[in-house]
Amino acid sequence: MNSGGELDRRQEIEANLAALQHRIDNACATAGRDPADVTLIVVTKTRPASDVALVADLGITDVGENREPEGSRKQAECENLPLTWHFIGQLQRNKAGKVARYADVVQSLDRSELIAALSAAADRAERDIQGLVQVDLTDGATGRGGATPQDALSLCEEIAAARRIKLAGLMAVAPLDENPDTAFARLRELHERVLKDFPEAKMLSAGMSGDLEMAVLAGATHVRIGSAVLGERHHVK
Ligand SMILES: *Cc1c(COP(=O)(O)O)cnc(C)c1O
Repeated sequence: MNSGGELDRRQEIEANLAALQHRIDNACATAGRDPADVTLIVVTKTRPASDVALVADLGITDVGENREPEGSRKQAECENLPLTWHFIGQLQRNKAGKVARYADVVQSLDRSELIAALSAAADRAERDIQGLVQVDLTDGATGRGGATPQDALSLCEEIAAARRIKLAGLMAVAPLDENPDTAFARLRELHERVLKDFPEAKMLSAGMSGDLEMAVLAGATHVRIGSAVLGERHHVK
């Protein structure tokens, strides 16, 4: 059934996953953490549904998408696979309805109007969604999405009050112009502060292909990895 190309792709991804798990295990050893406490989300953006099927077959349980309609289309093609779908990209309010129909976790909640729109959409779709507040560790300097750390707590409150969104934690991307260590240290402090008021907000989604070790040291429970598993993406846009 497999063509040679598909078999090669499977072997390539399998080898990448093994190398990545090694990195995660080493980072956990350094941090004195249990690797079972770090969930790998494979970011499948720009990749075909066949890659999603391959990673699922290789034991991956969580995948991440960052755009509409790419995410909903791919999920529809992969509907029968036992996967948790994370939406990790900047989200416009008018696309919340689409995302609410398939995402299990929305990691990029960064403003009130988006929380309200997603909550209403989840209600209509009769689905419960886990929500993370995305924190901008540059404090609004880059405009790449995310709430300022000062706004994070009130957004957590809004999510906690939403009917169909469960507050699950925080997400962040390391800034380009700062050592991820110091940025993730601020994220960890903020997460500890959030946990005081919202003990259910246990998820800390941080770490990508280039900085996952530092994220694991800072307590990340979820790392979002694209290129280290699926290869370099061709630049889009
Ligand atoms: C693309 C993306 C990732 C994965 O990045 P890699 O460097 O390919 O591992 C993680 N998080 C977000 C928000 C992304 O957009």
